[in-house]
Amino acid sequence: MAMSTMYPKYSTKMENDTVIMEQRLLKKVSNLVLNTTKCTGCGICSEVCPKDAIILGLVGAVRRGAVKDEAAISVDPAKCSYCGVCTILCPFDALEVRVDGEPSLPIKEQEGFPEYDFTAEIDENKCVRCTTCSEACPRDAIVRDIPVYEGEVADGAKRQTALDAVTTLVVDKEKCNVCGICASLCPALKIKRIPFTAEKVGSAGEVVWDESLCNACQVCATACPEHAIVVERVVKEGSKLAGKVTIDKETCVTCSWCEKVCPEEAVTIKKFFDGEIVFNADKCPGGCSTCVDICPCNAIYLPTPVPALQLKKDSIEPTIAVNADLCILCGACVNACPSEDVITIRRSGIHVKGPETDLFKSIAAKLCVPRSSKIQEDTFGQVELKPLE
Ligand code: SF4
Repeated sequence: MAMSTMYPKYSTKMENDTVIMEQRLLKKVSNLVLNTTKCTGCGICSEVCPKDAIILGLVGAVRRGAVKDEAAISVDPAKCSYCGVCTILCPFDALEVRVDGEPSLPIKEQEGFPEYDFTAEIDENKCVRCTTCSEACPRDAIVRDIPVYEGEVADGAKRQTALDAVTTLVVDKEKCNVCGICASLCPALKIKRIPFTAEKVGSAGEVVWDESLCNACQVCATACPEHAIVVERVVKEGSKLAGKVTIDKETCVTCSWCEKVCPEEAVTIKKFFDGEIVFNADKCPGGCSTCVDICPCNAIYLPTPVPALQLKKDSIEPTIAVNADLCILCGACVNACPSEDVITIRRSGIHVKGPETDLFKSIAAKLCVPRSSKIQEDTFGQVELKPLE
């Protein structure tokens, strides 16, 4: 009987980049695991938690690295019911519920719960396999499955020609005297020589060519003293780079950088949330740039200063601005901003698929409360937002 007073046991431990909350029952162990490198401090988990178990901490300081060994959120392992609502609705894939060590979403399995319905697709026929989207993506969500081309070095990988091409190499046997110059210059060529013997002195044999190693660079043809080699490469009509570029939907947060920068208009993104973000630059004191640093979508920027002579009379240069097209309305900037009323977020809808339960509807209503940042929080070290109407 004494055993029953020992359970449940609750604990929280930090291991490298992971915070593990635990509820230990006699026959079941539930964990909520936070990946601090993925957590952006957006606070959606704290808003959606049905048990009010999650508190938003020093978002700006933690995300800027000013506070070490601390996460942007803290979870009370005793209040948490390990339902998985936060896991399902975290846009950054930063939380995971485990039951007895296995990933689990109890709320989905037991009561049903929707998940984000978003689009992140690349039209393979339009995509030309350029590198633009992967360079612009702030979340490393672009997966380039492109073969190793000539010029690249990859141990063990067979090199390919970049375009669909046919290469031919012809050796004029009448002219070739098997001198070996071509093979000494290029690994694609070997000399299969008939051994020199005293009985029949002379140079005889053949040139053997490996197409997979040939760059059609023409070194052999140019260097051959007998002009015995002809190399040709013909690129097939309509040929494009082999391979495929895709978006990893686990990592994508629908910021749409890829869609905006794609030169072929091959990308389609549909975001998690509808709504708007407004920056009231007049209220920004300037010089802090916390929102710029912590924005997970690189949507916020410091406008390029206008030369003094070009400034209109009585105009004030904006200190801060957002490209609303790139914003996903996650709310991290509002949470981190140390000033009041600079940033306002109004979500007007959430795209989901799956059963829209009463619990989900009440959560959606909370997520759609317009908010801005607040100064002078009631509890030091906790983010409190200012609801607006
Ligand atoms: S698992 Fe459920 S109860 Fe626990 S923190 Fe997440 S939302 Fe709250």
